[in-house]
Amino acid sequence: MQVETRVRAINCLHFINGRFVESQNQKSFENINPATEEVLGTVAEGGKAEVDYAVAAARRALNGPWKNTTLVERSKILRRIGDLILERQEELAHLESLDTGKPFSLANKIDVPRAAFNFHFFADYITSIGTDAYQQDDQAIHYAYRRPVGVVGIIKPWNLPLLLLTWKLAPCLGMGNTAVIKPAEWTPMTATVLMEICKEAGVPDGVVNLVHGFGPNSAGGAISEHPDIDAISFIGEPGTGSAIMKSAADSLKKLSYELGGKNPNIIFADSDLDEVIETTIKSSFINQGEVCLCGSRIYVERPAYEDFLEKFTAKVKELKVGQPLDDDTNVGALISKEHYDRVNSYIDIARNDGATILTGGKRPEGFTKGYFLEPTIITGLDRNSRCVREEIFGPVVTVTPFDMEEEVIMQANDTHFGLSATIWTNDLKRAHRVAHQIEAGIIWVNTWFLRDLRTPFGGMKHSGIGRTGGMHSIDFYSELSNITIKL
Ligand code: NAD
Repeated sequence: MQVETRVRAINCLHFINGRFVESQNQKSFENINPATEEVLGTVAEGGKAEVDYAVAAARRALNGPWKNTTLVERSKILRRIGDLILERQEELAHLESLDTGKPFSLANKIDVPRAAFNFHFFADYITSIGTDAYQQDDQAIHYAYRRPVGVVGIIKPWNLPLLLLTWKLAPCLGMGNTAVIKPAEWTPMTATVLMEICKEAGVPDGVVNLVHGFGPNSAGGAISEHPDIDAISFIGEPGTGSAIMKSAADSLKKLSYELGGKNPNIIFADSDLDEVIETTIKSSFINQGEVCLCGSRIYVERPAYEDFLEKFTAKVKELKVGQPLDDDTNVGALISKEHYDRVNSYIDIARNDGATILTGGKRPEGFTKGYFLEPTIITGLDRNSRCVREEIFGPVVTVTPFDMEEEVIMQANDTHFGLSATIWTNDLKRAHRVAHQIEAGIIWVNTWFLRDLRTPFGGMKHSGIGRTGGMHSIDFYSELSNITIKL
């Protein structure tokens, strides 16, 4: 059954100083629906001029009435934004599905409710934080005074557009900063609607600004280079993170990075295989495998290997690749032609490296339009194959057997990435022992994607810099001054 098409795609303008505006030179680009290859609408194409205008508005707002708002007043605004997101849940889920190609059901169940929760969570959290205070014998007391960082540039990827934007924007506003946002060029719609919501929730003009556009020599580059932006919160590929760091170096911006992953999913033979398979289907193929946390390298202890492969392959073959708006679709379309070709090129690499494609590896039958790819399981690859080493960011997993605990730890860590890992075992001592040796910022034992927003989130090695979540987000979006008073 198809979800009723009540929501129409929107044309996207910049949002600067509380108003939707065209680009100064009237330039725009087309927004393509990845499931139909049709044009959804137009998007204003911003560059240096629009970023300059947005930064000036953000700086004025920072030093204007926003400066005098209390934590409690900002908490109320965050709560209202979360409420308004929920009021417009179906519309937002629909736009997200059109833009990304992800199933509407997924956007409606996960992306949009979590976007609202990001605001509700920080609405509560910011009112409960304290600060460091020390008494130094009878000589002095010291306390830390917290203030905003300033104007923050927020640069986003396309895979979880609203979820990830709100994850950054909520603590950014909560701590009294102002923002200049650049959504990914592929997915501009929900960020645009969020600007309407912020205005309706009472965010003063200039506090939140949105500039659409591309990366280098466009809006993204202009944000990274801008001398009057104090900090950048970036989510995207490591290579882009490196380029932004170079551009941001001249003005010594504070940086928070959440980057890519090539995450190991380690399955010991003593684990409950049915539970493993149910979760591994999600950790491999949810959102077409376009989630930084997906466990794309699966390692299975030899005694369970054949059984796992047989059951896993059978279940994966049952997944329905289909139109994003059909409510029985499990796997939608990949984001773009460029990305579709890139993901397919890795399947060609696997074939050339002598791999076995157990299932998938091709466009499903009956699809002539759209960037659809069957969920793909690959075996028989050497650990040096590019398919095992590089982030594919699509519905493609490799499965490899192992014999020894030390061997799988070594293979899991044999990567530049260090975002997340999953360990499946019923042996508690082993769970701790292995978890302590895996080089990743987020490690799940007998589960995946279970999040508590107070906990540290982020990656090590090429997967990120710094952590967000709870107090870690507060620390990034604020500056501390230590004040010492002699007694
Ligand atoms: P990307 O790096 O290509 O683009 C991200 C954003 O950066 C886009 O808005 C883009 O326009 C902009 N950009 C590109 N070049 C730029 C430049 N030189 N200067 C300034 N801005 C620039 O990433 P993507 O393809 O949109 O997203 C996929 C990547 O994001 C994957 O690597 C994925 O793992 C990662 N990701 C990580 C997390 C996490 O939490 N660690 C979450 C989601 C996605």
